[in-house]
Amino acid sequence: MSGVSEGYVCPRDGSDLVPPSASERSAYIRNGIHHCETCSGMLLNADAAASSFCAEKLQEMHKGFIEEGTPVDIDCPFCESQMKVRSFSFQRLDGSLTEPIEIDGCPSCSSFWLDAGELHRLSPPSNGSMDAKVEANSLAIVLEILLQLPVVFV
Ligand SMILES: [Zn+2]
Ligand SMILES: [Zn+2]
Repeated sequence: MSGVSEGYVCPRDGSDLVPPSASERSAYIRNGIHHCETCSGMLLNADAAASSFCAEKLQEMHKGFIEEGTPVDIDCPFCESQMKVRSFSFQRLDGSLTEPIEIDGCPSCSSFWLDAGELHRLSPPSNGSMDAKVEANSLAIVLEILLQLPVVFV
């Protein structure tokens, strides 16, 4: 099951994921985000991140999934390993922690899956309905800001 370049599919709904290179948003490219236009979920991968800062951050998060985490019924879209879930908080500049969000991580490669709902919990409420593309863009920006902050396993 290999040889298909960029052919990753959403683990939730099976839609083709939009690769970072096909997105004009720099937030996607810097963080190596493949996103789903159906559910607004995002797949991150350290090797796909153009920014070395982001790649290092994702590698740091990956360590938390190698030995620990609860197995979940999701196969890693990159390497087909069974993924695990852990709760994370991000430390704000004043030292307080954000509400925890659940992130699915692959114990084999440095991939992560984020459901849109998890990021929604940390984003400002939106006014009115947004289409999936607009929503994914705004969530990517939220995610990029979060990745600048220290990550705490909770
Ligand atoms: Zn999806
Ligand atoms: Zn993997």
